[in-house]
Amino acid sequence: MYELISELYPFCRSITGDGVRQTLRALQGHIDVEIHEVPTGTPVFDWTVPREWNIRDAYVKNAEGDRVIDFRESNLHVVGYSVPVRAHMTLEELGRNLHTLPEQPDWIPYRTSYYAERWGFCLAYNDLLGLSEGEYEVCVDSSLEHGHLTYGELYLRGDSDEEILLHTHVCHPSMCNDNLSGIALTTYLAKALGEARRRYSYRFLFLPGTIGAITWLALNEDRMPRIRAGLVISNAGDSGGFTYKKSRRGDGEIDRAAVQVLRHRSGDNRVVPFSPYGYDERQYCSPGINLAVGALSRSSYGTYPEYHTSADNLDLVQPQFLADTYAACLEIIDVLEGNRRYRNLNPKCEPQLGRRGLYGQIGGQSEKAVDQLALLWVLNLSDGDHRLLDIAERAEVPFGVIREAADALGAAGLLEELD
Ligand code: ZN
Repeated sequence: MYELISELYPFCRSITGDGVRQTLRALQGHIDVEIHEVPTGTPVFDWTVPREWNIRDAYVKNAEGDRVIDFRESNLHVVGYSVPVRAHMTLEELGRNLHTLPEQPDWIPYRTSYYAERWGFCLAYNDLLGLSEGEYEVCVDSSLEHGHLTYGELYLRGDSDEEILLHTHVCHPSMCNDNLSGIALTTYLAKALGEARRRYSYRFLFLPGTIGAITWLALNEDRMPRIRAGLVISNAGDSGGFTYKKSRRGDGEIDRAAVQVLRHRSGDNRVVPFSPYGYDERQYCSPGINLAVGALSRSSYGTYPEYHTSADNLDLVQPQFLADTYAACLEIIDVLEGNRRYRNLNPKCEPQLGRRGLYGQIGGQSEKAVDQLALLWVLNLSDGDHRLLDIAERAEVPFGVIREAADALGAAGLLEELD
């Protein structure tokens, strides 16, 4: 995942344009993601697919002809969706189009202007202080033309045609935690699930923020009844603990699965209620869509100083944190896949576990093949009304332990799976 992030880091992504295509084509080296193109002007609910933006070069040159701001050094130097410009101007005039972060004077901020026609440059505050009075040459060699909105989609069919959505945005230029970590993690989840036996079908969506999710939802309204759950994945590679933001419904199976997994994982993990802000969970959880889609990240958007700056780089994201997020996502998926319902076939008093090799032979042993208490909980609550996640919650035992107990009881002929 870290290598993939390093490979994708230089591309100049935006909500449309060749940076997204380049990114998705690189992903095709790992997974069979399909690239979709939606024409400019397509109406999508209350929005319209915008003109496509591409950029070749941009700079500000001083009177000596030196590039004092240079897109080739960092694509964050240009305000995303800047309209083309070629002009000469004083420092004062130029200054109206410059963006800095005085509180972090060595970092370049990330700024965009998708829906108002503007141009601008971003730079470190300390570099702004170094600009002298005089005339500057400004060039943004960009185009804003009729074209397409590009997104990626991969569908993996399971035993059931009920779907789990895994979503990540793909519209940020050179920044790693937001958002390359989400792209890399979602890609590797698709790889892992592609090789697994699947109860549910899975749909992986690589969409530009806001307009991409709105576009996909507008074009796929007929799919909504089949979507059982979903997860918006972002900020997956920093050192912070996990943040799970519940769906608007708040009590969906995905919400309970994520809470269950985070409760039993170490670290400073947080569960927060839904709010209509953040990433594209706000589209999936708009009142007319209202899907059970939650959002998983480590540090959440806007809460760490490097967020939306040049300091969100290859040092902020580390392989061990990506691996940890990957493991947590697979655990959440395991809960969804394994949340089945059973009936105890010997419900009158406890069955004799020792005779079936399920009871610790020597009293007082702490290491057991199957957790004894988990066996008793599964037997007790497998009355047809409770699923394994209900049992894990009530027993306050990790889902995986309950699942193992259920498998052992099933193999011993003590449980029958329902539905
Ligand atoms: Zn962002």
